[in-house]
Amino acid sequence: MLKTFSRILNGYQNFRKKYVVENNTLLHKLAKHGQKPEIMIVACCDSRVDPALLLQCDPGDLFVLRNVANIVPPYENDEAHHGTSAALEFGICYLNIKHLIILGHSQCGGIHALLNQQQLQQDDFISNWINLIKINANTSQETDACAKEALLTSYKNCLTFPWLKEKIAQNKLSLNLWFFEIQEGVIYNYSSEKKTFLPLDTEL
Ligand SMILES: [Zn+2]
Repeated sequence: MLKTFSRILNGYQNFRKKYVVENNTLLHKLAKHGQKPEIMIVACCDSRVDPALLLQCDPGDLFVLRNVANIVPPYENDEAHHGTSAALEFGICYLNIKHLIILGHSQCGGIHALLNQQQLQQDDFISNWINLIKINANTSQETDACAKEALLTSYKNCLTFPWLKEKIAQNKLSLNLWFFEIQEGVIYNYSSEKKTFLPLDTEL
């Protein structure tokens, strides 16, 4: 059996030991009362950027949406299949999420593809999806700079969703842009005041 595959089976055993055998209170509570996550994270599919692992969460803590390059598309109420927008609608309007975090990261393959579209050998969906990101002509064409810029595009797109914009205006929802630098293992938070990404302040 593949080494990684046996590791995930081992991980599942550990999960059961912790959440079922030793103490099943949390899973029972979640099953009885349903999920009530206060935090939603839009993250990339990248295997190195798993929100629940990065933030050491328990079941029920995070409502997670992952797609290529952690993009929030603009609000388009048409007949197309808007999976990302549907998840946002569910999280914001039904689960009443209080904190929405869009989590970008360094070395993003989706952003790299955006900058090197001529290199895509299989492209039924990828370029159409990543072209949702509009990179400012003044931004450096370096992948991480563009990934940060893409977070700002997603932020603007979030505000095109009427129910999302309304919750922010009513202070019922906070919208946060985070950037995970893989090599450093550090999360940076966008400061709208300073217009730059600063190491996430973990002081409460
Ligand atoms: Zn990525």
